[in-house]
Amino acid sequence: MQVKLLDLTAQYVNLRTDIRKAIDEVCDAQSLILGPTVERFEAALAAYCGTKYALGVSSGTDAILCALMALDIGPGDEVICPSFTFFATAGCIARVGAIPVFADIQADTFNIDPKDVERRITKKTKAIMPVHLYGQMADMEAINDIACRHDLKVVEDAAQAIGARRNGKRACAAGYAGCLSFYPTKNLGAFGDAGAITTNDPSFHEKCRLMRVHGSGHQYFHKFVGGNFRLDAIQAAVLNVKLPHLEAWHEGRRRNAAIYDAAFANSAVKAPYIAPGNWSIYNQYVVRVANRDQVKDKLAKAGVGSAVYYPLGLHEQECFAYVGTKRGSLPVTEQACREVLALPIYPELKEAEVRYVAEQVLAAVR
Ligand SMILES: *Cc1c(COP(=O)(O)O)cnc(C)c1O
Repeated sequence: MQVKLLDLTAQYVNLRTDIRKAIDEVCDAQSLILGPTVERFEAALAAYCGTKYALGVSSGTDAILCALMALDIGPGDEVICPSFTFFATAGCIARVGAIPVFADIQADTFNIDPKDVERRITKKTKAIMPVHLYGQMADMEAINDIACRHDLKVVEDAAQAIGARRNGKRACAAGYAGCLSFYPTKNLGAFGDAGAITTNDPSFHEKCRLMRVHGSGHQYFHKFVGGNFRLDAIQAAVLNVKLPHLEAWHEGRRRNAAIYDAAFANSAVKAPYIAPGNWSIYNQYVVRVANRDQVKDKLAKAGVGSAVYYPLGLHEQECFAYVGTKRGSLPVTEQACREVLALPIYPELKEAEVRYVAEQVLAAVR
């Protein structure tokens, strides 16, 4: 049996007619960038996330960059983030001229450890950027408490966690600002690059809105230096079709996760730990195994796709050597880098496929 890590065609075939019609409408209207289709998506997205505002932007990376620019974070500032995350989290902090200060993660959830965050606060710290990794929200109560005591902004990197819940709040609605990605592999994927910034603060929303178009309110008059962070109407049209299906897709992933969880109980495969109060959307289903690289090779031979998110912490990346966080200083992150393996979890997987993957994983660790 062949089971891919992700099969986007399986989703597309079910929505083909609706998506092509929505794209056709944009083609006929020739309103191609921002405009009514984007605004419709922004309103639906804010309602979905439970925030007052949502702003469509060009990618998840640009959402983070634009949010940091709108917060006036720059040279001389520090932003605390995990090292165990996708590059964009820290990449954007560095691009605005601030220093990414890497905190370790919790061994069980893989999310940023609030105790380590607090240890790393200095007079230069301006913000904390927790990442809701793999679809499970970070400990936002503890993070917000720290932020409140030290007067810091909390920007959620929710790229992997649209729709995730924690104690009654959704990802993006638990911090000051939320950043989303609609990269095709995320739970809500566009047909190219797309992203969004959410907030409840009208002035921050307005500043991001101007930032998105080179800091300009009226054409050719610029209040500050922004960028081109605009969202295409075709992407918004696709997202408008997909958003109403998102909850059902989350449920499909959670159903598959439950099958895996049962199969891996009392085995050498450590299934994901979901903290009390959390409701994961399983953007990834990530297990820990010893001899991870061999397990991955064996799975490939059995026709099963898997991937490593992430093989190297950001603190060990060449480009962040100047930050000075040495190997050995984030032990929980470094161990996770050696042990994690993401398995197929997309909602259209058939039960027999999930069971086959589970069997092959168990056979590979034996
Ligand atoms: C995908 C992702 C991003 C970046 O999103 P793009 O749309 O690819 O730019 C940022 N942070 C995390 C944690 C991600 O998974």
